[in-house]
Amino acid sequence: MNINDLYDPEFRKLIKSKKPTVIIPVGSIEQHGAHLPISTDSDIVTEIASRLAKKCGFIVFPTISYGVSWEHEPLFNTSLKANNLRKILDDVILSLRKNHIKKIFILNGHHGNLQVLNHMKKLTYVSSLSYWHFMDHEFDHAGFVETSLMLAISNKVKMKKAKKGLITKELSEKEKKRISKLSTKAGGFPKVTKNGVWGDPTGATKKDGQRFLSEIVRNLVKECQS
Ligand SMILES: [Zn+2]
Repeated sequence: MNINDLYDPEFRKLIKSKKPTVIIPVGSIEQHGAHLPISTDSDIVTEIASRLAKKCGFIVFPTISYGVSWEHEPLFNTSLKANNLRKILDDVILSLRKNHIKKIFILNGHHGNLQVLNHMKKLTYVSSLSYWHFMDHEFDHAGFVETSLMLAISNKVKMKKAKKGLITKELSEKEKKRISKLSTKAGGFPKVTKNGVWGDPTGATKKDGQRFLSEIVRNLVKECQS
């Protein structure tokens, strides 16, 4: 169920009788190459949250579309300072608790938010999970995986503009580690990738995206039921 299907006082009655779990997707607003919308992370995490909610009977709250994306400057990003994202989540969680919501599930769609969301794990009534940890394939940024996912859920992908970015396959483990670390620093992402793309989106397909989506949702359902 989605928050925009709910009314008060029915919702309060439902909270009392069914004790529902609330799911809050958290995304980002940042460049995803020339071929994917800037809202990509928020778009994907919103879709996954809604599929998961349908399977598990959760209630989907509005996506927090802004995340911590300073690593993408000077390419486009609209970012929150980590501490402010944490404050927003703290306030939303406190408010939900006051409204007798006992279980809150934060679904993350952007790597830069990880530090903040790991902090939330200390709260026993909050679970926070990043969706890309629920698929086998190595994740990327505007590469094969993310572009396939977007092809599966959106008609806004401009495949003609898709360009290969940073490929790490041939690099040593040490070099991979160095690049990963640098890419998370403010302004670091364009430094290591040159064009803001991590991976190769040119072979992405809708079919692969659908496969990734089913895999992610299936594994998340398992996690939520355990
Ligand atoms: Zn992304």
